Amino acid sequence: MHTDTYRHRGMRRTLVEELRRKGIRDERVLTAIGVVPRHLFFDAAFQPHAYQDKAFPIGEGQTISQPYTVAYQTELLQVRPTDRVLEIGTGSGYQCSVLLELTPHVFSIEYNQVLFERTARRLMAMQRPPHLFCGDGSLGLPQHAPFDKILVTAGSPTLPRPLLRQLRVGGALVIPVGDETTQRMMRVVRESEEEFSRQELEEFRFVPLLGQAGWGKQ
Ligand code: SAH
Repeated sequence: MHTDTYRHRGMRRTLVEELRRKGIRDERVLTAIGVVPRHLFFDAAFQPHAYQDKAFPIGEGQTISQPYTVAYQTELLQVRPTDRVLEIGTGSGYQCSVLLELTPHVFSIEYNQVLFERTARRLMAMQRPPHLFCGDGSLGLPQHAPFDKILVTAGSPTLPRPLLRQLRVGGALVIPVGDETTQRMMRVVRESEEEFSRQELEEFRFVPLLGQAGWGKQ
């Protein structure tokens, strides 16, 4: 159950081909998806489904994002090997592990204490673990800012001001923005201290971003 086998690697190759057909182009992102054993981020009951291009429950009413969504957001981030990246919504830790294939400087924050503890145990066993935090990620991580890239993996009602402020000039924020049912993916670049440009992309469905700059407490 806790191992990666030849069969799993074969299923990952098939998943990578599916993502390529669906329009993911960045070879570094496809390679990362091909390497990270997604089944190890699942509860035992769902493990047989780990290489389907679907979202699945991870407990606490939350989900592990669909591989297409993970690949799409990661491609938009354009991570360079020296980038400091902040992820909001650690969840299962899968997206975090994909980011770690692209840069060793990954910070991730999770709001839900139960998920945080479970996932921290899983990720801290890695050879070069990420920096993990439990708290309200809608406020970012001011003590570790600025970041070159910020990725939000939950749906936000607005562009959270604290996250914009914690971007380095030239850095990018990738975030789904909308109502509780659908959100549009946004890519915001900090062009200078005061100027931001933004691109509006495809529609998605994420679980809500909670917290002060999100939908509030729950
Ligand atoms: N990136 C995750 C997807 C998790 S779903 C993965 O790869 O599995 C979104 C996650 O965001 C949930 O775990 C939810 O608890 C978390 N979340 C929601 N609001 C948050 C907030 N304000 N700060 C940090 N995490 C938050």
